[in-house]
Amino acid sequence: MTPAPTPGQSRSQELFDRARAVTPGGVNSPVRAFNAVGGTPRFIRSAQGAWLTDVDGNDYVDLICSWGPMLLGHAHPEVVAAVQAAVARGTSYGTPTEGEVALVEEIIGRTPVEKVRLVSSGTEATMSAIRLARGFTGRDVVVKFAGCYHGHLDALLASAGSGLTTFSIPGTPGVPESSTALTLVLPYNDRVAVEAVFAEHGDRIACLITEAAPGNMGVVPPAPGFNQFLADTSRQHGALFISDEVMTGFRVSRSGQWGTDGAVEGWRPDLMTFGKVMGGGLPAAAFGGRADVMASLAPDGPVYQAGTLSGNPIATAAGLTTLQLATPEVYAHLDTVADALRAGVAEAFTTAGLPHVIQSTGSMFSVFFTDEPAVDFAGASRTDAAAYGAFFHAMLDRGVHLPPSAYEAWFVSAAHDERAVQTVLDALPAAAQAAAAAGGVI
Ligand SMILES: *Cc1c(COP(=O)(O)O)cnc(C)c1O
Repeated sequence: MTPAPTPGQSRSQELFDRARAVTPGGVNSPVRAFNAVGGTPRFIRSAQGAWLTDVDGNDYVDLICSWGPMLLGHAHPEVVAAVQAAVARGTSYGTPTEGEVALVEEIIGRTPVEKVRLVSSGTEATMSAIRLARGFTGRDVVVKFAGCYHGHLDALLASAGSGLTTFSIPGTPGVPESSTALTLVLPYNDRVAVEAVFAEHGDRIACLITEAAPGNMGVVPPAPGFNQFLADTSRQHGALFISDEVMTGFRVSRSGQWGTDGAVEGWRPDLMTFGKVMGGGLPAAAFGGRADVMASLAPDGPVYQAGTLSGNPIATAAGLTTLQLATPEVYAHLDTVADALRAGVAEAFTTAGLPHVIQSTGSMFSVFFTDEPAVDFAGASRTDAAAYGAFFHAMLDRGVHLPPSAYEAWFVSAAHDERAVQTVLDALPAAAQAAAAAGGVI
């Protein structure tokens, strides 16, 4: 039964009450629930360009961008037209289509991967890449970094064990110990820890997986040369280096994070994973890499992987159109917008006397309420979450929708124009004061 709304309640509150009665936490992915900042999530009715409109008719500048995918902004007319045309041709066939070939060619044209398999979510991409790495190398152990998120596959929902070179324990109930028993979790940006783990377990390690630039503990960029060091160390020990670009891919640059390090330094990952932007807001993701490794995948090779809706024609149409429209001008615009926002944030927090650090990779950035840069998960965890909660709500009240967690990147789009940027800049001073009043004690 639908609960009767309390008079004067917002439509978002009514919907959230209904949602909580039928769905755990009222949401279909946990971070949407506002648990980290308190309050009621806004139910969105529609979105256009840089703006979200909620069911009560409030407009917000969107700095979530669907957690990354909406590189061009919402309801881009050409993406909408491509999707409408695709829908009219039928929604799924279970046979190959031209759109899949074109999307994969576009990905290969922008990145160092030689062969690509399409899937439907980032989780599926990393899960499949790890299975492939294990199948190709004939080894079992996986190395990852604390604070890097690769989707919700069991093997990677792991917490570090008691010592650096000890195997992990499950990071959540429901993951059996056997699923994380072959996973090693290390502190990010820590070369010594990487060397130690390869020295002890090198001949058992199938792969090392990392976010190309972590964005899931807030943005914690790799130290200069760190990704190259990971690629080299993995190779020396016969392990595969998997660079997870589900978040950074086609966003940080036209070639993702790799475009800013590997392309410049002259190295390539063995396998890469993609998602978010490449689906243009529909469910599409991918993994790809060295042709000899990808040849181990069914039906060419013995490692099984499949998907009923993989390469779905509507999702591929949205993704392909998005990437085709993601021109150098778009990336330049994202950088300009991010620069303006970072400058405004720094000024507002400095004026409010609140200790803060802004960390970026390309146009992706996040704000830590700490007095020193975060180089790993322990550092990121020192941010003042109470200050962020107050800041978040003060911004929301002024028409700016930030990610409802201190540990997330802020995302901008090609549609963030002067009016959107100015709305954010106008909201910042009062929100910074609210944050300083709520926390700021380190
Ligand atoms: C979002 C994300 C994933 C998971 O993608 P889903 O589509 O949510 O399953 C994996 N890796 C990284 C780096 C991500 O940011």
